[in-house]
Amino acid sequence: MSAAASQADLIVPTCSCDDYVDLPIDEAAIDERISQFTTMRQSLTQISRNVVVKWGEQYRLYKCGVCGQYWQASYAPRDIDFWYLYKVPETGISSWKRRAYVPPGEILDYLRQREEFLSQRFEIGKKNCADESCGEKAIAGVRKCPYHQFLEVDGGETREWLLNLMWFPPYDPSLVDRPAN
Ligand SMILES: [Zn+2]
Ligand SMILES: [Zn+2]
Repeated sequence: MSAAASQADLIVPTCSCDDYVDLPIDEAAIDERISQFTTMRQSLTQISRNVVVKWGEQYRLYKCGVCGQYWQASYAPRDIDFWYLYKVPETGISSWKRRAYVPPGEILDYLRQREEFLSQRFEIGKKNCADESCGEKAIAGVRKCPYHQFLEVDGGETREWLLNLMWFPPYDPSLVDRPAN
């Protein structure tokens, strides 16, 4: 026992933060990170949590005691039984509690919803889209083009919510801009 203790004293603490890249907006990468959650969490210290009751949102803020890296955890996209962790910039607790970092999985989920919607076959009519800034034709029998119809149905609310969270590199709000045709 004493031998083990003295040996432990000689070990320079290391961490595995550098083993994890910034999480790509990619389903397989996020799934892998979900599977690593329990292991990753063991070497991190939770320093705060942010519960947004209204939306059933919850975030946790962690810090590595060795290298000082900050991490945010959030629910897995579409599955609140699981969590995943991703690196975030250093932050003050009070500003983080007001505005958590944008979860990469929710960006992915938004882009997935949008792709699903826009990949439908629409019958395009002769009228212009009711959105003034838009030069597209509206869907037949509907006031708006497919993209603006998507925003109206429920994409717009999700997009607003994402844009109101704190964005950080390598993610940029232009990710949720209108897709090029
Ligand atoms: Zn670390
Ligand atoms: Zn439009």
